[in-house]
Amino acid sequence: MRPDLAACYGQERLPRYTSYPTAPHFSSAVGPATYAEWLRAIPARATASLYLHVPFCRSMCWYCGCNTTVARRDEPIAVYESALRCEIDLVARHIDRRIPVSHIHFGGGTPTILTPESFGDLMGTIRHSFFVTPSAEIAIEIDPRRLSAGMIDALALGGVTRASLGVQSFDPKVQSAINRVQSFTQTADVTNSLRRAAIAGVNFDLIYGLPHQTVASCLETVRQCVELRPDRLSVFGYAHVPTFKKHQRKIDADLLPDSLERHEQASAISEALRNAGYVQVGLDHFALPGDAMAVALREGRLRRNFQGYTTDAGDVLIGFGASAISALPQGYVQNETQIRSYSEAIAGGRLATVKGYALTDDDRLRADIIERIMCDYSVDLGAICARHGLAPETMLNAAPRLNELISDGIVALDGASLAVAEHSRFLVRSVAAAFDAHLDTSRQLHSRAV
Ligand code: SF4
Repeated sequence: MRPDLAACYGQERLPRYTSYPTAPHFSSAVGPATYAEWLRAIPARATASLYLHVPFCRSMCWYCGCNTTVARRDEPIAVYESALRCEIDLVARHIDRRIPVSHIHFGGGTPTILTPESFGDLMGTIRHSFFVTPSAEIAIEIDPRRLSAGMIDALALGGVTRASLGVQSFDPKVQSAINRVQSFTQTADVTNSLRRAAIAGVNFDLIYGLPHQTVASCLETVRQCVELRPDRLSVFGYAHVPTFKKHQRKIDADLLPDSLERHEQASAISEALRNAGYVQVGLDHFALPGDAMAVALREGRLRRNFQGYTTDAGDVLIGFGASAISALPQGYVQNETQIRSYSEAIAGGRLATVKGYALTDDDRLRADIIERIMCDYSVDLGAICARHGLAPETMLNAAPRLNELISDGIVALDGASLAVAEHSRFLVRSVAAAFDAHLDTSRQLHSRAV
C-alpha cells in the first residue's frame, strides 16, 4: 500500500476493540445493584468464562500497560488472594447455581506471584462455586524470570492447560531499555518444564515498537522463539501513553521507532512466523495450524474478549479482582481499580463494581459487526443486520467514514459484504472504527493503530 496512507492511518489513535463500546465509555451509572440484577438474570442454560486479575509483580517493566503494582512483601498478596476467594463466593451466591465454566484465565500482573498453596486454594474455591467442565481451558500468564518448580506442580495439579509466557524481545539492548532482562535460557527452561508437567499449550507474548528495536532484532527474537515452537504467539505494538502510565516516562521517546518502522517490524515478524509454519490469527496472534485458535479461525468461530482473540464461546464472562471487567448480555461492569477499595468492598460483603455500561440494541449490532471485522477481516453486513432487524443500507449510511477507506483501497464493498484488502490488514482497527458510534469522545485515550 502507499507509504503515505500507511503513515496517515497508522498515526490514528484507535481502540483495540476488545469490547464495544470500549472501556472509556463505562460510567458510574452502572454499579453494584445493576451488576447483582444482571447476575441473577443469567439465563438457565448459559455457560460462563472466568477471568481472575492478580495485580502484583516483583518489578516494573517500563513498557507495561497493565493494572499492576510492585509487591516486595508477600503479605498483601495473601490478603488479596483471600479477597478473591470471598468475591468468587459472593458472585456465585448471586447466580445461585453452579453454572458451567469452560474457560478460566488468570491474568495480571503476575498471577504466578501467588504461592502454590494460594493458587490451589483459589482453584478449590472456583471448583466449589462453579462447575468447571472436564475439558475446560485453564490459562495463566507467566513471568519466566520467576517461576518455581513448586508453582509448576501447583499449576498442573490445579488443571492448568495453557501458559502465556512474557518474552517481548530477546535483544539485550532492548531488554535493558525496558527494565526486563530475561535470557533465552530462562524462557527455554520454563517452556520445557511446563511441557514436562503436561501443561501442553504454551504461548509467547512479543512486542514490537520498543526502544532500540529494529527489524533485525525483531527477526532474531522470532528465530529464537521458533526454536522453542510455542503453540501460539501474540505480537503487540508497544503503546506509549506516559500520561496514563507514569513508569513509561522512563522510556526515552526519541528511541522509539516511528510509524513506518513499526509497520516494517510488524510485517517482518508476521512474515517470519508465517514462513515458520504459523497461521496468522486476526491482527496480532499466530498459531500452529493444529492449535485450537487456528481451528476456530478456519471454522469462523474466533471471538474477541478483554484478553484479545479467544476461542472462548461462553455466554457470560465474569471478572474477579481489582479492575476486572465482566461481560453479560445486558452490558459490561468493571471492579474498583485500586486494590484497597476493591478489598474493602469485598470485605464489607459488597460487589466491587465501580462502573459499567448498559448495552443498547444499536451497540449490540455494532459490536457484532466490529467483532467479525477484527476476527475475520470481513463481514457479511446483510446477515448480521438481518439478525438485528435492520437493513444493511441503514448501517452503511451510519458509517460515513467507510467511504474514505473504500476510496483509499483499504476495504472493498461488494453488495453488503465488506472485506479488508490483504495489504491493509494491519489497519483493521481503522475499518472497525468506521462502525464505532462512540469513537470521537474517546480517541485521545487510545494507542496508535500501528
Ligand atoms: S511482568 Fe507483566 S504485568 Fe508485570 S510489570 Fe512486567 S509487563 Fe507488567
